[in-house]
Amino acid sequence: MNKISVFIVALLIISILSIYPTLPFSAFAKKPQKPPPPPPPISKKICVLFFDDGFQNSYTVALPILLKYNFGATFGIITSLIGMDQNTLWARLTSTQIRDLSNKGFEIASHSVTHTDLLLLDHTQRMYELTESNKVLQALITNVLDFIAPYSHTNSVIDAEILSVYQAYRSWDNYPNTIFVGSETLNTFKKEVSAKGNMVFLGYHQLRDAVGDYITSPTLFTQEMKWLYSQKYQVISFLKYRGK
Ligand SMILES: [Zn+2]
Repeated sequence: MNKISVFIVALLIISILSIYPTLPFSAFAKKPQKPPPPPPPISKKICVLFFDDGFQNSYTVALPILLKYNFGATFGIITSLIGMDQNTLWARLTSTQIRDLSNKGFEIASHSVTHTDLLLLDHTQRMYELTESNKVLQALITNVLDFIAPYSHTNSVIDAEILSVYQAYRSWDNYPNTIFVGSETLNTFKKEVSAKGNMVFLGYHQLRDAVGDYITSPTLFTQEMKWLYSQKYQVISFLKYRGK
């Protein structure tokens, strides 16, 4: 065999070897398929975001910012207060706003009927708080799966009662890495959140220009969300955190 023949035979063998793995499929594949794009990088820092007590400013102040950063969140609704105290500092979310939040992909959770400390109630009263709030919310939206314990108070008996109605709940006992955000400075917020490591639960209440344990100004709230975004926190609802 001369050199040219050797070269041709080698070329043929290489061609056959390179084509062969695709031969069984070549009849079906019109074009070689592009590999799928790599999945987006998933941040290891998780922030589960809550708005407790169903204040209307969680809609008027927080919603535009959540949408801007594509953040998820869970809104805990006290069902006896839906639509109450309009045009006051204590205005609560209306049925329409709750439905809109749900339609936009946010989680609606029950935060009881009257926000009474469950430790102070008997079994019948507790079951009313659990089932009636669920019924009211289910009439507005589908799938109310989570419960937020008023004052974060439960015990083992109450835990079992909650889980007879809901899939999961938030209380001090099961999520001690919760921070209730108030009027602290931005630097304190950064330190407290960072101290929780890679997973933090944040609970907001009122978002308005006043100072208090459960009040955060719209300016501070905006700065806090911007910081979470800059720190690459994945900000999600409780439902998503649970993998639902
Ligand atoms: Zn509450």
